[in-house]
Amino acid sequence: MRNKIKACEEVGIRSLSHYLPANATQKEVIELVRALAADKSVHGILVQLPLPKHLNAKEILAEIPAEKDADGFCAENVGKLTLNDESGTVSCTPYGVMELLKRYGVSLCGKNAVVVGRSNIVGRPMVLLLLNADATVTVCHSKTQGLKDICARADILVSAIGKAKFITADMVKEGAVVIDVGMNRDAAGNLCGDVDFEGVKNKVSLITPVPGGVGPMTIAMLLQNTVTLAERAELC
Ligand code: NAP
Repeated sequence: MRNKIKACEEVGIRSLSHYLPANATQKEVIELVRALAADKSVHGILVQLPLPKHLNAKEILAEIPAEKDADGFCAENVGKLTLNDESGTVSCTPYGVMELLKRYGVSLCGKNAVVVGRSNIVGRPMVLLLLNADATVTVCHSKTQGLKDICARADILVSAIGKAKFITADMVKEGAVVIDVGMNRDAAGNLCGDVDFEGVKNKVSLITPVPGGVGPMTIAMLLQNTVTLAERAELC
């Protein structure tokens, strides 16, 4: 949250932070989201996850109107992504991955893209974005059989598992583009990705580091989504 607030300041977006006590009730959180939804001076809303266990996150997120959904998590925006309709907002992390691929000139059309992880906020929208960009997409998860061989055939490999240095050199194709979404701690407590960066980096054509790769892009795309929502609101 600190980084998001700082990034807003840097680009001139006014950000309002509402910190509720850990024992806030479902009703209190919903009332706050409803008040922000009704406030015309607010263009984007995000509820920072995870929420305390006694709260129903799904019900709270459902209170964010699609036209103020800065995180791109609501059913309407996910539905638009599924339909390849670009008028919604897109989950910031996979959206940031697409921007990275675009800026580095990685062609996706017809390529074999493998996404490891199927969470609602990373894996699933990543699959849809790659598919919408004409890649041939395979999605893997904890029940996938033959994961190593599937990964080793990927031209573009996106890992969003949450397991430190899980993807090793033998799971990666020579010359592949590797996007490491994972944010984990290694045995020494250092921040690291899902990919064994040192073992893999000489085998691939491009690889994102952790920290410093996908993470900053997530925040950049949150700002992008907010600006897009503000522009659309002002055009109405
Ligand atoms: P998540 O909700 O825990 O999902 C993890 C996914 O990985 C699940 O689909 C799970 O499969 C799959 N998985 C777990 N172990 C596996 C294995 N051994 N082999 C194959 N698949 C496996 O996590 P998330 O929210 O998507 O986040 C994933 C990682 O990205 C985390 O490290 C998180 O911190 C990081 N992250 C980074 C950013 C950023 O801005 N850089 C943003 C969001 C998340 P099942 O579905 O079968 O359980």
